[in-house]
Amino acid sequence: MQFKEFALHTDILKALEKLHYEQVLPIQEQVIPEILKGRDVIVRSRTGSGKTASFAIPIVQELIWEEREPQAIILTPTRELALQIKEDFDNIGAYRRIKTVAIFGKQPYKFQIQDLKQRAHVVVGTPGRILDHLERETLKTGHIRYVIIDEADEMLNMGFIESVQSIFNYFPGNKITCLFSATMPQPIQELAEGFMKEPKLITL
Ligand code: AMP
Repeated sequence: MQFKEFALHTDILKALEKLHYEQVLPIQEQVIPEILKGRDVIVRSRTGSGKTASFAIPIVQELIWEEREPQAIILTPTRELALQIKEDFDNIGAYRRIKTVAIFGKQPYKFQIQDLKQRAHVVVGTPGRILDHLERETLKTGHIRYVIIDEADEMLNMGFIESVQSIFNYFPGNKITCLFSATMPQPIQELAEGFMKEPKLITL
């Protein structure tokens, strides 16, 4: 299957061509249409499957460029993953001029606050620091339409699940939530049951 079979902006197709993404990977074939339809999804899959693009492509497609407050939040366990995901959004959203901000711990607040004050369409970060910014009201959530929980089992292992739960209290009710995890231990299932509405389960 090819990306042009999805009804995507030509600006996105152009970016995917530049990245040499020629074939749609299996995870992308299953996940992209569900997110475009507005359905919550739980995806059991490992890294390296093309999962970042499976959520970045439909989100970039649906973002409203003129909106000044964040429309998508990606929660991820590590700084390295946050930077990798930001790079993927930068690449896929390059011709739509999508701005993505990465925020994580052990970094000064000052620059993160400056970044968040500018237009940011997408915010990607680690749960502890995201929660800090929510509590300080330096991260606005009134326009959030997409929430991605990436590597949920890793976040559980690293002790981030309580932070993830607290973060959800700040989000509007009417949003699309996607959870990615290699395994589905009980606390992750409970998290999904608590925050997601009739999620479609995709196993790869
Ligand atoms: P991820 O699972 O998101 O870490 O992606 C694994 C790797 O696959 C990354 O290097 C991506 O740039 C690459 N990738 C994602 N989608 C495609 C695609 N459709 N065609 C070729 N490479 C891809």
